[in-house]
Amino acid sequence: MSDINNRKKLLEADRKFIWHPFTQMKEWAETEPVIISEARDCFIKDIDGRWYLDGVSSIWVNIHGHRKKEIDEAIKEQVDKVSHSTLLGLSNVPAIKLAERLAKLMHDSGFNISKTFYSDNGSTSVEVALKMAFQYWIHKGVKGRNTFLSLNNAYHGDTLGAVSVGGIDIFHKTFKPLLFKTYKAPSPYCYRCELKLSYPSCKMACLKKMEDILKKYSSSIAAVIIEPLVQAAGGMIVSPEGYLKGVRDLCTKYNVLMIADEVATGFGRTGKMFACEHEKVTPDIICLSKGITGGYLPLSVTVTNNEIYNAFLGEFKDLKTFFHGHSYTGNPIACAAALACLEIFEKEETLKKLQPKIQMLKEWLKEILSMPSVGDVRNKGLMAGVELVENKKTKKPYQWEDKIGWKIANYARENGVFLRPLGNVIVIMPPLSISEVNLEQMLVVVKNAISGVQ
Ligand code: PMP
Repeated sequence: MSDINNRKKLLEADRKFIWHPFTQMKEWAETEPVIISEARDCFIKDIDGRWYLDGVSSIWVNIHGHRKKEIDEAIKEQVDKVSHSTLLGLSNVPAIKLAERLAKLMHDSGFNISKTFYSDNGSTSVEVALKMAFQYWIHKGVKGRNTFLSLNNAYHGDTLGAVSVGGIDIFHKTFKPLLFKTYKAPSPYCYRCELKLSYPSCKMACLKKMEDILKKYSSSIAAVIIEPLVQAAGGMIVSPEGYLKGVRDLCTKYNVLMIADEVATGFGRTGKMFACEHEKVTPDIICLSKGITGGYLPLSVTVTNNEIYNAFLGEFKDLKTFFHGHSYTGNPIACAAALACLEIFEKEETLKKLQPKIQMLKEWLKEILSMPSVGDVRNKGLMAGVELVENKKTKKPYQWEDKIGWKIANYARENGVFLRPLGNVIVIMPPLSISEVNLEQMLVVVKNAISGVQ
């Protein structure tokens, strides 16, 4: 039963005390927010007792559903032992076990990387990767590797280093005076090609542009950073087959490091454990977060190879140490949750069970593409975007102010599905554990929402 007084109090306190992320708070104050009090499987419940299908996995983190018994228990067990102890000068049992497990996972995925550096969110895993790559070259005695190459439409997090390698004007432009200079290559966004070409006749000219930059400036570039296969926050932009491999080859050819930011794509999202596996690409550094704990707790890792790790070894006085570390680095409860999450992948054959759901999603996307206001549909695994357009023929986008994505999300919410759009792109990203029945229910609502609003 909903408690009207309780609701009123919570709402007032929310409006008075919380500044919500990526939210215009003036607007927030004028609308009735949903306040979540409980969750189970793929559903979240608000304080009024309404259940919603969690269509975006609580911001792309949830993997095996909410209240997953094995993860709940692993956390409770760990709390009975120790909740937090630092990795600065000490170690802890779950952090050791998880690093060992990740090394095996990397090996099984075909990557020769095995050294785990812990932090606590996607942005910090990227900061760590950038600093690691930068300092690696210093230790190798190579001077001048002072910048990075990243992509237009890239999103690597909200801290200033991550914003520097970001490429989404709406989020990043304001902060330009605070950012370090980077080189930007075109986004492999075939629906709106920056080079005004068409795939496949373009022969991936965007890679050629990347090569032009590397040819000229590689001596000042520490690494290329990329979201493999899917530029997620940029609008679920899926790169054409071979693009990622092409980037790896260019990094090798021009002797720059490759950082794969798999914060969004990692842990099964794309249908394989990691997106890089699809094109048999091994990055020099990989950033992982979000799904690592099954969507329970903040944790991230930056995993690298021995070549980079060994470059930091030396005598105490040499100051080759990697001077970086956060208070909650390697938190034992989060590591215990991550271990339980990885065990479920094996025990429940999560990736195998995912394949028919990916197929179902693909079929539905084909149907959705035929709708008048849908310009493009993109997906890799259980990660999809539906791009809405004002004019399908000319590809004229809706204006940001039209809030078309929000209108559709609101419609879906009224019909029991929680969505969070990226501008004009509707994101479809439920927990990997969603049942086929629930996935179908969700897609029916998405389709009805689009036709209800267009
Ligand atoms: N990298 C990528 C590819 C992401 O999608 C995100 C978050 N959406 C981040 C980094 C930042 O992660 P966090 O929000 O945990 O800082």
